[in-house]
Amino acid sequence: MELLKQRILRDGVVKPGNVLKVDSFLNHQMDIDLINEIGKEFKRRFSGCPVTKILTIEASGIGIACITAQYFHVPVVFAKKAQSINLDGDVYTTKVESFTHKKVYDVILSKKYLTADDHVLLIDDFLANGCALLGLIDIVKESGAVLEGAGIVIEKGFQSGGRTIREMGIHLESLAIIDSMTESSLVFRQTDTP
Ligand code: 5GP
Repeated sequence: MELLKQRILRDGVVKPGNVLKVDSFLNHQMDIDLINEIGKEFKRRFSGCPVTKILTIEASGIGIACITAQYFHVPVVFAKKAQSINLDGDVYTTKVESFTHKKVYDVILSKKYLTADDHVLLIDDFLANGCALLGLIDIVKESGAVLEGAGIVIEKGFQSGGRTIREMGIHLESLAIIDSMTESSLVFRQTDTP
């Protein structure tokens, strides 16, 4: 997605540890006009998929998922990072290792909000090693819902997540794939889709 790539080039800041900061338009301050275009693009790429629910993980996926959901006209449900897990069986649970904080979180989702009748589109801001998406995929499997695919705003193609998810046969759409980045240069993968 050209608009997004131009914005990353203009305002993205590469930090040590392979972290790209996009706080000025995506992760802290949010440029809603840009995110509207992102939502429309996800709708275009998953048109024809009978999505009934958008699933994301707190915190930075939520805003993007909500704006995207306006184009699908379906609810958003987000997996919560739990302090402690209650084991009375009313929640799906999984573990996710945070790329940016290097911590393992328990993640929960109420069984009320995802069932075997659902067709799920996963949305997140970044794909790095894939832990967040794999956690969400676990939850979808537990629920018996159908996974329609995953939409990612920025994939860091030099990390393993994208390959892992594609090798699982999952329909993955990343709007910008970065093949390499340093403080002074950032190279995008050339893809068929603009
Ligand atoms: P993964 O689980 O794929 O290793 O990492 C994905 C999660 O880590 C995303 O939900 C995102 O919040 C965070 N993340 C991974 N890489 C980056 C990055 O370069 N910049 C920012 N801002 N967040 C990242």
